This record gives sequence, structure tokens and C-alpha cells, in this order.
Amino acid sequence: MSDTPRRLETVAVAAGRPPHRPGAPFNEPVTFASAFVAGGELEYARYGNPTWTALEEALGALEGGECVSFASGMAAVSAVLHLVPSGGAVVVARHSYQHTLALLDDGARTGSFEVRRVDVADADAVEAAMPGAAMVWLESPTNPALELADIPRLTAAARAAGAMSVVDSTFASPMLQRPLELGADIVVHSATKLIAGHSDVVLGAVVTGAAEAAERIRHHRGLHGAIPGPMEAFLALRGLRTLSVRLERAEANARELTRRLADAPGVVEVRDPGFGTVLAIVLEDAAAADRVVERVRLWIPATSLGGVESTLERRRRWATEAPTIPEGLIRLSVGIEHIDDLADDLLAALGDGRVD
Ligand SMILES: *Cc1c(COP(=O)(O)O)cnc(C)c1O
Repeated sequence: MSDTPRRLETVAVAAGRPPHRPGAPFNEPVTFASAFVAGGELEYARYGNPTWTALEEALGALEGGECVSFASGMAAVSAVLHLVPSGGAVVVARHSYQHTLALLDDGARTGSFEVRRVDVADADAVEAAMPGAAMVWLESPTNPALELADIPRLTAAARAAGAMSVVDSTFASPMLQRPLELGADIVVHSATKLIAGHSDVVLGAVVTGAAEAAERIRHHRGLHGAIPGPMEAFLALRGLRTLSVRLERAEANARELTRRLADAPGVVEVRDPGFGTVLAIVLEDAAAADRVVERVRLWIPATSLGGVESTLERRRRWATEAPTIPEGLIRLSVGIEHIDDLADDLLAALGDGRVD
């Protein structure tokens, strides 16, 4: 491959492939192996696998850093939080992914962290929480409030305050937001969502431009053992190949749904961050929202997001969801079906004339 910078759509298709040699496969095959013959680069498969390497090359090229893949998004989150010195303060978006917050709270109870929750959309408040912090954990857009962080401003402020900055960029994917370019030290992805894109894989990734952090994270993975399966790495890379076209359709669907839902019966508010494939609608109360989720036929009632199929969920059905999220909020993960089918199904479920 030449060193010419390529556009992201091309990188997603071309990176992480074996060299173009006559007779070679286009795709790095799935290598099922626990050990490799001694004397080569790879020896034991907890430390490396060629199928991970292909995925890591592609994701690293897209984000502009070095990628370390993990068994899940949470394994990636956990590895990055281990960079915080014992008892260090972590400034974190209060509407971050709920299990990231749970992991921080667990650590706070045992003295690993001091946790400072902030409204990530209020840049002044985030900056005010930074003095003495070891890490600033941004998520943007947040899940499921869909707030946006001012990433360039907050990563610069974190650096000035001597804190590492991290962005969980799961909702944006590397195609729509490149946090390293915006000043972040580390990017985290749940590749389970948009990157793999077909609701058939659980996988996570960390990407960083800092060689020392990459080395520590790789070391952590080898010791803690939360390694991706080779089949999962293969599927995630296969999903990544079509990310840009899936996004094109799903983003267009999401924006159009926002327009069509604006004056739909019972919808108090539509939240749309303006990019990406996740929306939220707020209904009057939990009962009204539950009714919509029960009535849809095409939309799949489910947690998770980022697949080709559209899913929806009333978030407060989880006792662990933040109490600041409205009871009647339904998160919509918009897929690539035809917009009219998606809109018709949702509008029928919202309308009260329908007999089930
Ligand atoms: C799903 C998710 C995670 C956790 O990823 P898993 O792959 O489920 O472990 C982390 N952050 C965000 C924003 C997510 O949506």
C-alpha cells in the first residue's frame, strides 16, 4: 500500500488486508490457534493473533493511532481505567454508559478512584472539576441523553490540568468523529455497536496516539486476559468494511425520522444530536412509552444499538439507569430499513386508534 493519505471510506475498506500477492486471500483468515511454533513473532495466543492484528490495523488507521482490541467494550473501558493511579480522581460524564459508571462506583468503594460526575455538555462545569484529576472521561454523544461534549476544548483543558483525556466514541464511530485528531489521548469503542454493525458480535477497542499508553494497555490485556475471539475479530472487521454505507442510510433515516416524529401524537420531545444513528423520543410517562414499545411490529424491542436493524427501548426500565433520564424516554437505534416502513410502524404505535 502506498503512504498516500486516503479518505476514511477507503481506509475502512482497504486497511488491514494481507499484501496483494497473486493467489493471496483478500481477507486475513480466521486463525484459530492457542500457540504458535516457537522462534517467530507470535508464541502464545493470549498475546497476539493475526486476525486481531488485521482488525487493529484497520481501526488504528481510521482513528489515527494504535489500536488494541478487547473481548468487549467493557473490557476496553476497564483497561483504560487501570491507567489511573490508585485513588486518582476521574472526571466523568454523568450520563456515560451506565456500566462505565458502575465500574467507577465499584472502584470508588474500594478506594481505586475518586469519581467526579459532571454534565458533559456544560464545558465550564467539566473544566471546574478538572484540577488534580488523573483522567477526564468524556462520552459524546452520551447514552441515552445524547448530549454533546466540546471535545477540542475539554481535551485541551485536560492536558493543561495534567489529566489524561478519554473519549468513548461508540455512538459516533470512527467515521463521524475522530477524537485523537480533536486532542484526546485515548479513544474507546464498543465495536459491538456500529463498527461490527450486525448485532452478532461483542468486541471492544482502545485506540491511542501515545505509544506508552498503548504498551500499558496491551500489557494489561495480556495479564487480565480479556482477549477477543478470532471469529469475533473477523466479524467485526467484516462489519467495518461496510460502515460508511450503513451510516449513510441509517443517518438519513434518523434525520428524516426526527422530522416526521416532531408533531407525532404523544411525543413531548425528540432528541437528535444532529449526526449518528441514535435518537431519543420523550413521551409523557413510563406507561405511554411502554405502550409504544409493546405495539411496534418492525422495530425490535431490545437494548443495544448500532445494528442494521432498528431497535428501541425505554431506558428507565433498567433500575440502574440515571434518575435524570426521563421515565418516558425511548432510545431509538435507527437501522437501514426503508424510511417509510420505519416511520409507519412507529407512528402507528404512537397513535391511539390502533387495535392490537
Ligand atoms: C455498549 C457500550 C459500551 C460497552 O460495550 P460492550 O461491548 O457491551 O461491553 C460502552 N460504551 C458505550 C457508549 C456503549 O454503548
